[in-house]
Amino acid sequence: MTSFASQLDLRDLIRTIPDYPKPGILFRDITTLIADPAGFRAAVDGLVWPFLTAGVDLVAGIEARGFILGGAVAHELGRGFVPIRKKGKLPAKTIGQDYSLEYGVDTIEIHADAIKPGDRVLVVDDLIATGGTADAAIELVRRSGGEVVAAAFIVDLPDLGGSARLKEKGVSVRTLLAYEGH
Ligand code: AMP
Repeated sequence: MTSFASQLDLRDLIRTIPDYPKPGILFRDITTLIADPAGFRAAVDGLVWPFLTAGVDLVAGIEARGFILGGAVAHELGRGFVPIRKKGKLPAKTIGQDYSLEYGVDTIEIHADAIKPGDRVLVVDDLIATGGTADAAIELVRRSGGEVVAAAFIVDLPDLGGSARLKEKGVSVRTLLAYEGH
């Protein structure tokens, strides 16, 4: 299957929920995509194939949908998986990174010993919007001494600027499809 064909298929399998979680947001729901066997496989394959020979040591997934995708990507690459979680969820010693939300600040964390200096890390989540979450995840990897090979997402909302923001930080960004006008 070509990547162009798989992009068309994936878009058909993503459900859009208007006004969730609040008025004006078009929520791009990938649960319908990952429930579809061919869709899930195509999505994971699309995230994996650019990195088959990229020298990835670890895959880091962002809670919660990044766990589903990142776990599958790590398995296909034959590499380990590292969870990046909301504050207070990881049991051992952590390092944390704050990031801005529309209202206020949130924090994500990684185990302090999850990444060894020099590890080459692929960051995975389902969707990039403003890029705040992924930016914080990238900071955690870098502060751990890791090198970010790329950040990979199924969905890009380019009008919200996240993929451009990561590229400005020198991070390679892989997305499988985009919704213009979000
Ligand atoms: P951001 O930090 O603004 O790039 O937001 C990315 C995170 O929020 C990802 O973990 C997404 O799952 C979630 N998210 C943001 N906007 C949407 C949307 N319109 N539809 C689905 N998920 C979203």
